[in-house]
Amino acid sequence: MKEWQTNLIGAFVIVIIGLGFLLGALTIQIPSAYKTFLGIPYAVNPESVFWFNWMIVGLMLGFLYIGMCLGLMANTYSIYRLEKKIPQTPPPPFSNTPSFCRYCGTQNIPDAVFCSKCGKKLT
Ligand SMILES: [Zn+2]
Repeated sequence: MKEWQTNLIGAFVIVIIGLGFLLGALTIQIPSAYKTFLGIPYAVNPESVFWFNWMIVGLMLGFLYIGMCLGLMANTYSIYRLEKKIPQTPPPPFSNTPSFCRYCGTQNIPDAVFCSKCGKKLT
């Protein structure tokens, strides 16, 4: 099984857990009266505080897991793209022929860029 395939399964599991937390948080019935400020509920008695805190924890965990899933999906996509586009060929071998300097005739090591004696660029 390829890496992007295992990542995809992992992302699926993670997003299911995240959606589970979100669903749990959003279906918590906060008992008794609570007030809202700009649509955000805030608790007014100890029992409400308890369930309200669990709702916040659930929302945070849900978004955390969904964010993790998005990160893993992005990673999965880049791995998938790399596997599809870049052929698995070895890098070109180094040439073993020594390179001679055009200017001073010094023999340099293979694939040298500059002459070791006069410092000019080898072509
Ligand atoms: Zn040279």
